Amino acid sequence: MLATTYRRPYRVRAAQVPDPVLEHPDDAIVRVTRACICGSDLHLYHGLVPDTRVGSIFGHEFTGIVEEVGANVRNLQVGDHVLVPFNVFCGTCASCSRELYGNCENVNPEATAVGGAYGYSHTAGGYDGGQAEYVRVPFADIGPTVIPPDIHIEDAVLLTDVVPTGYQAAEMGDIHENDTVVVFGAGPIGLMAARCAWLMGAGRVIVVDQYDYRLEFARRFAQAETVNFREVKDMAVHLKKMTGWRGADVCIDAVGCEADGNLVQTLVGVKMKLQAGAATALHWAINSARRGGNVSIVGVYGPTFNAVPIGSAMNKGLTLRMNQASVKRHLPHLIEHVRAGRLRPRELITHRVPLEEVDEAYHRFSAKEDGCIKTVLVPPR
Ligand code: NAD
Ligand code: ZN
Ligand code: ZN
Repeated sequence: MLATTYRRPYRVRAAQVPDPVLEHPDDAIVRVTRACICGSDLHLYHGLVPDTRVGSIFGHEFTGIVEEVGANVRNLQVGDHVLVPFNVFCGTCASCSRELYGNCENVNPEATAVGGAYGYSHTAGGYDGGQAEYVRVPFADIGPTVIPPDIHIEDAVLLTDVVPTGYQAAEMGDIHENDTVVVFGAGPIGLMAARCAWLMGAGRVIVVDQYDYRLEFARRFAQAETVNFREVKDMAVHLKKMTGWRGADVCIDAVGCEADGNLVQTLVGVKMKLQAGAATALHWAINSARRGGNVSIVGVYGPTFNAVPIGSAMNKGLTLRMNQASVKRHLPHLIEHVRAGRLRPRELITHRVPLEEVDEAYHRFSAKEDGCIKTVLVPPR
């Protein structure tokens, strides 16, 4: 089959690899119908995630048709069209029984990050991903959800990650009525978080990014005020000024580690250039939240070391919350929001390309060229 394989930093290739097979009676094999490229994939692509092995198959956002099921699988039928949460999870361990599906304790024992994900290096279990023609789905009775007939396939594929992650970003911010919410990052995750902030009663939503086309999108898609950080000298001062010098009630980091190591403003006001993996957005989030405010982190930090102004967070009494999204927990209510037209996820999709063109697609998304926000890959059939 054709699959997106990792070669080296800044290079993936659509290559012929062996088809996946059932390895366990709980597995299913799914023929992929749509797969997306995510900002999380860019951390792999930029070589920032440890133990990303050459030849491994990327992709954790996919829909597909069940092709084959293992002997223990009861809840799925061959032919079902399913969306598959990006988390790999057992459904029964101590984490899963608390609906912390992103922190499952029963993923491959070689996983060093707690929690499994498709196509996300051996730190997340070494599972092959879905940017391919076929994918093996472990714990197949637990994860996959049959796509309701009235849900568009492009909304379904965004329900595997973007919608629940954006929602959980806002939820972890514990937004109260009329709160001012600042979202760092106008990628699909930040844009969805901004939309969800309104659902939770925000009085004001401000989105920060460096690309005008994305900020323009944020104004339209999320009715947000916007700030281009390239035009601002000191982000914390700027945001304080915008919020009557109090700071934001809630700051959301929808950026994570950065490939280019931006300027980071330290506590003493000295600017220093950190290596790739800098946590600039998280600095800004901590420094622009009000005293006693909340910082919600869904941005992924691949490198094991990231400098974070934790003293500043402590002195201000901030609450920091962070996690992998627990996709399955959110699906029932998010399907209702999508059905009612309150989230409109598929408007985020700017590019639809054949799987064969995955290398160009990664390049375009990484370089933020051609107005790219979200790319959907379509496998050959
Ligand atoms: P994306 O690459 O499309 O968007 C990231 C945006 O952040 C870009 O537009 C970039 O210009 C902007 N940016 C860079 N530095 C910034 C800064 N200092 N301040 C403000 N904006 C800045 O990515 P995406 O698909 O939207 O994903 C965003 C993040 O969410 C990634 O780190 C991804 O790994 C993470 N993520 C987490 C989960 C989870 O479960 N926690 C799930 C999906 C994605
Ligand atoms: Zn993703
Ligand atoms: Zn589990």
